[in-house]
Amino acid sequence: MTSFSKDYWLTLQANTRLPSQAWINGQHHSASDGSCYDTVNPATGELLTQTAACSTADVDTAVQNARATFESGVWAELPPAERKAIIRKLASLMMKHREELSLLESLNVGKPVMDCYNLDIPGAAGCFEWYAESVDKLYGEVAPTDRHNIATITREAVGVVAAVIPWNFPLDIAAWKLAPALIAGNSVVLKPAEQSPLTALRLAELAKEAGLPDGVLNVVTGLGEVVGQALGRHMDVDCLTFTGSTAVGKLFMGYSAESNMKQVWPETGGKSPNLIFADCDLEAAVEHAAMGIFFNQGEVCSANSRILVESSVYDAFVERFVAKAESMVVGDPLQPDTEVGALIDHQHASRVRGFIEQAQQQGATLACGGTGAEDDCLVPPTILTNVTPAMTIATEEVFGPVAAIMRFETEAEAIQLANDSIYGLAASVWTNNINCAYRVAGKLRAGTVSINAMDAIDYSVPFGGYKQSGFGRDLSLHAFDKFTQLKTTWLKLR
Ligand code: NAP
Ligand code: MG
Repeated sequence: MTSFSKDYWLTLQANTRLPSQAWINGQHHSASDGSCYDTVNPATGELLTQTAACSTADVDTAVQNARATFESGVWAELPPAERKAIIRKLASLMMKHREELSLLESLNVGKPVMDCYNLDIPGAAGCFEWYAESVDKLYGEVAPTDRHNIATITREAVGVVAAVIPWNFPLDIAAWKLAPALIAGNSVVLKPAEQSPLTALRLAELAKEAGLPDGVLNVVTGLGEVVGQALGRHMDVDCLTFTGSTAVGKLFMGYSAESNMKQVWPETGGKSPNLIFADCDLEAAVEHAAMGIFFNQGEVCSANSRILVESSVYDAFVERFVAKAESMVVGDPLQPDTEVGALIDHQHASRVRGFIEQAQQQGATLACGGTGAEDDCLVPPTILTNVTPAMTIATEEVFGPVAAIMRFETEAEAIQLANDSIYGLAASVWTNNINCAYRVAGKLRAGTVSINAMDAIDYSVPFGGYKQSGFGRDLSLHAFDKFTQLKTTWLKLR
């Protein structure tokens, strides 16, 4: 993998403009009342810029522009091959600006800049490319009517789509929503998380450069209770796609019920289990378990935060897992060897620390890591052993680099423990027994089960949850179920 020095990034930062205004109708847009809020680098505490804190009036302006461009047909009625060319151009511009986007993402959310460069930015660009390539290969249906009638079933754009997203993978999750929504012909209003507006705003500028007509993509920055709620309650938004916490996902369902019954697609929290059976390749299981919970500082909705280990290999697993966790490089996100960067902000860091302290008060053992220094946003990879199902650390989403380890004796007990959660986003199963693997995978109540793999993900497969992890599905052609609606057209032959 490529690597750049910290000096390289600091020089780039000195020469990089940070976007700070919202983006409406193809132009920078200040909040109607002039309000701003601080956008801070969580790794250093440095004030990066002041971002527009948009109001309900700004949301109205964005939705009106989105509606007008949708109705005009300037985008929705372009031939699919022409939409494809523009979105492919956007993907190539993202790769052209890969260093700049990586830097913006890392400065803004504290994740290792080389992860942004190697994973987040090419991942987001590839997502636009994948959906662009798909759009001129989608066919409609002809229903089996009698021969005096023809009935076609076609997919049409929904209209105005609002996307409300979190801060953990700002550009990637924006791409997961925008790529299928835009390529299907919709006009979109995107609300990034208040902490992480930078890459979304830069993306909108690049979309204009790629030839996306003004008003088709709007980015409204600001607070969830204001901008998010205004989108959720807007009478002229047709579809709301949401990724974030379960609590806020439920609010959006309520906003819809109380306004225009817009479609709401929540993709929400998780407490994903990782099942380690005694016969597995323990070395591979340890490596991937560390990736599963410590990658991206554990700020991953599908993080494998509950590790269930068969009794006979429990001690061996814990010993190796602790050694792996202690070897990970924690610290400055701009250093090329950093594996675990800063958490998103002080409030979140102290929440994560609170979970670690509470787990110990409830009887868990701190095997490594801990709360770290209170005055920064760094929390080291932390492992808690002797966790029992009733402890808070076994049930609540921490969204930090904190693994809770439990033991099991039988396959049935492993399945029961794994499913003992209000969430059902992902799960992993480690075993060399194909029968056990497939049997267990079939019983796990999770949207994705990875066998001898960790959080397997690809543009071509749906990503989403069971239970209170929500029911929206991102990625794959199934994402078009959200962003298109079915039109039946009858033709009576004379
Ligand atoms: P969050 O607090 O639920 O926020 C998500 C988005 O909703 C943000 O844009 C936020 O705006 C907005 N929002 C907050 N309160 C709102 C309200 N009252 N009305 C309308 N909108 C509101 O989640 P987060 O802290 O950003 O992200 C962490 C959560 O996301 C975790 O629970 C994680 O599991 C989940 N997540 C899920 C997936 C998945 O695919 N299933 C992927 C990634 C993350 P503000 O930024 O202004 O608060
Ligand atoms: Mg928030």
